[in-house]
Amino acid sequence: MFSRLFFAVFFLFVTVTCGFWLHGTTGAWVAVTGVLTALLLTDYERGHRLEVWLRQGDPRAEVRLTGFWAELVDRIRRGYKTRDQLALQHQERLQDFLSAIQASPNGVLLLDEEGRIEWCNQTAAAHMGLHEQRDLGQHIVNLVRDPAFTRYVAQEDYSNEVIIEGRSHSLAQRLKLQVQLHAYGENKKLLLTRDVTARAQADQMRRDFVANVSHEIRTPLTVLAGFVETLQSLPLSPEEQQKYLDLMAVQANRMQGLVSDLLTLSQLEGSPPPPLNESVDLKPLMAQVRSDALALSALQGDGEKPVHNLTFNLPEQLHIGGSQAEIHSAVSNLVTNAVRYTPVGGKIDAVWEVDAEGQAQFSVKDNGVGIAAEHLPRLSERFYRVDRSRSRESGGTGLGLAIAKHIAQRHGGSFQIESELGVGSRFSLVFPNTRVKLEALPTSRQAPLLAAEASA
Ligand code: ADP
Repeated sequence: MFSRLFFAVFFLFVTVTCGFWLHGTTGAWVAVTGVLTALLLTDYERGHRLEVWLRQGDPRAEVRLTGFWAELVDRIRRGYKTRDQLALQHQERLQDFLSAIQASPNGVLLLDEEGRIEWCNQTAAAHMGLHEQRDLGQHIVNLVRDPAFTRYVAQEDYSNEVIIEGRSHSLAQRLKLQVQLHAYGENKKLLLTRDVTARAQADQMRRDFVANVSHEIRTPLTVLAGFVETLQSLPLSPEEQQKYLDLMAVQANRMQGLVSDLLTLSQLEGSPPPPLNESVDLKPLMAQVRSDALALSALQGDGEKPVHNLTFNLPEQLHIGGSQAEIHSAVSNLVTNAVRYTPVGGKIDAVWEVDAEGQAQFSVKDNGVGIAAEHLPRLSERFYRVDRSRSRESGGTGLGLAIAKHIAQRHGGSFQIESELGVGSRFSLVFPNTRVKLEALPTSRQAPLLAAEASA
């Protein structure tokens, strides 16, 4: 810049001196005017070239300029470059930000002052049945037609959230959404949606559970209270009194059984998974289960001898890593059920097997009443019974299969049911090979060690 100024002043000085020397003052003025005009025209022509270059809008385009003008072009180029870099950085940041919001498990919607959708992430679109692009600019209340939501948007107090029904594409699943508006910017709104279906289901299950437990306890309690009143108010003979006391004992036992199963369930839910290194010897465990089953079977007859044909098979030296009490409870529930739901003279086989992959399976097969296919998916739900009165008559609580399934899963295994109405059932507990220990491999993997048979 200074060299250009110096050059212009030097050139002016030389020209003016020459002009003055040749023609005096007039010559000097002519020289000044000529030099300034030449400088102006030169700058105008260069400025024009710069303007054409700028209009092109491409900072990389060639432009033939020198000196001060070339430096100006260079600086403008650098300015463009910095601006483009900043724009790129902002774009990347915006993309990151949008990707993060897209990845959110919660729905995010931006609404303008009028409540029209400006932007929404995929989750919000899925929650509310919207189209991410097509529905932009639409009023949210026109698209989400839920009276609770419309009232919520209209009230303009968004301190609390509202629960509405979402629009899941699968009809089988009804979404429950927690929705809340937050004001931001100038009268704009941020709408957040959260899927609370699982929480709502858990709440419903809790309510159902409490209602079921209350119902189960209330029934024997009412019967007991009735008997107590009868004993208190009627002059009964000692035989009659004994009869009532026996009936009261049945109800008390039923309540005891229910409370004990409820405690078992709550212990299962509240405790860590059973350790792998605690080895359960199945031999004494199955001996106990067998003797209880024989006694229960006998009670269905004259009480003297079992009325079912029961067999128990157990491979030599089979141990399961896990909880002795839990395995006993699961196995015993299945065997007891088989005895309770198999008519007199029926056949029941309780078998432990180890398959080729090393998994251990305990299965109880009976040729009892069997279960219709429509009940099978819900059979291991708490308090689910096929025949309520039969279950109660035989001392059932409706929790046995739920406990067995829970125990199998806590041991990393699974619970399986196969049944056919009028033909019989097969209930199985499968334990993963990581929990199976065969201390000495037998020649035949399934040797009938506990051969307990009892014929009707
Ligand atoms: P419960 O105490 O009523 O027996 P469970 O949870 O043990 O409760 O069993 C749930 C239901 O499954 C029973 O009410 C019964 O209808 C059915 N069930 C269980 N085991 C058998 C079986 N071996 N044969 C037929 N039905 C069975």
